[in-house]
Amino acid sequence: MDFDAMFSKQVDALKEDGNYRIFAELERKCGAFPRAKSHDDDAPDEVTVWCSNDYLGMGQHPVVRQAMKDAIDDCGTGAGGTRNISGTARHHVALEGELADLHGKQDALLFTSGYVSNWAALSTLGSRLPDAVILSDEFNHASMIEGIRHSRAKKVIWRHNDPEDLDRKLAALPANAPKIVAFESVYSMDGDICPMQEIIEVAEKHGAMTYLDEVHAVGLYGPRGGGVSEELGLADRITLIEGTLGKAFGCMGGYVTGSAAMCDFIRSFASGFIFTTALPPAVAAAAQASIAHLKTSQTEREMQRDRVARLRAKLDAHGIPHLHNPSHIIPVMIKDPVKCRMLADILMRDWGVYVQPINYPTVPKGTERLRFTPGPLHSEADIDHLVEALTVLWKQCAIAHAVA
Ligand SMILES: *Cc1c(COP(=O)(O)O)cnc(C)c1O
Repeated sequence: MDFDAMFSKQVDALKEDGNYRIFAELERKCGAFPRAKSHDDDAPDEVTVWCSNDYLGMGQHPVVRQAMKDAIDDCGTGAGGTRNISGTARHHVALEGELADLHGKQDALLFTSGYVSNWAALSTLGSRLPDAVILSDEFNHASMIEGIRHSRAKKVIWRHNDPEDLDRKLAALPANAPKIVAFESVYSMDGDICPMQEIIEVAEKHGAMTYLDEVHAVGLYGPRGGGVSEELGLADRITLIEGTLGKAFGCMGGYVTGSAAMCDFIRSFASGFIFTTALPPAVAAAAQASIAHLKTSQTEREMQRDRVARLRAKLDAHGIPHLHNPSHIIPVMIKDPVKCRMLADILMRDWGVYVQPINYPTVPKGTERLRFTPGPLHSEADIDHLVEALTVLWKQCAIAHAVA
């Protein structure tokens, strides 16, 4: 059997469709972010990153770096085991306390990533609650979809951000089945925000629990960075809030928060929690420092909002269509995978602008886009440079100037 030929055949099909993924090899420059050194031959030595999920630049914040260094000097590098077998450090416990406080919940549970937290929590809830039904927003992240699939629970997909459709679908289910409504606050590809209050009201009406992914909102929304649920004063009505330490908090890891009984349940039954080495204590310490900083500092959030507004205004002024949404994510729709890739390549090569093309399967075919995430550390000159580059390319590529 020629396995390599079998592998190549499928990868070649991706290449033909324009969906083959090429990673930019970068070296983030601490203290100079969003500037990064590029190690690719066909890019300038220094590029500006426009698609980072380190939304606030916390990955290079002095307080966060110092916390990580101190913890390494105190405890060494790895955790040394699973949480159960010698892997629980003081830093994990302190971070779980910080997270529970962030969301106003009784308890929290750490995972090695946001992906794992969604996968493990939904698998456990769906498989362990007898006759559970999971009602999943149609645009939910792959980590939730995989968790639901793995649980083998009955799954019902409801129309994106549509509480009425959710209501109809909940009403059609047996009254005594445990129901879990799974959704996100900020959807990271379109940058739209869910109608949280309406969804909660529908779920409450049917006695369903709510499972909210706040991955693209924690650190960014709410007076203490507790996400959209904090901003709207709705956190106490959400059963489970899930988040990541890898995006706005600038580190790595994932978590769920909720009642002590629920966290204890997931801790006790989730294989994705039990059978894997705990996060390095230094990562936990850094994440805690980042969360604690963003609980009191508004500076980063305010500066980010300012940059987002400036970029949007300048795109409008130059007739570059972008999705109008209430979040910090600015998608510029290209709607063609080959064109999307080509534009990203030219931006990188000729302008030192790094924005990764977003193609299938991350977004549906025909909705390919460039997704810009302005942060507090992008300067006015960075924004002007980006808008100039896009304006020139727009004319060259003769993409219709239309409001998306
Ligand atoms: C990135 C992402 C995750 C996974 O978080 P990681 O910490 O990166 O594994 C989960 N949910 C959503 C909506 C995401 O975009």
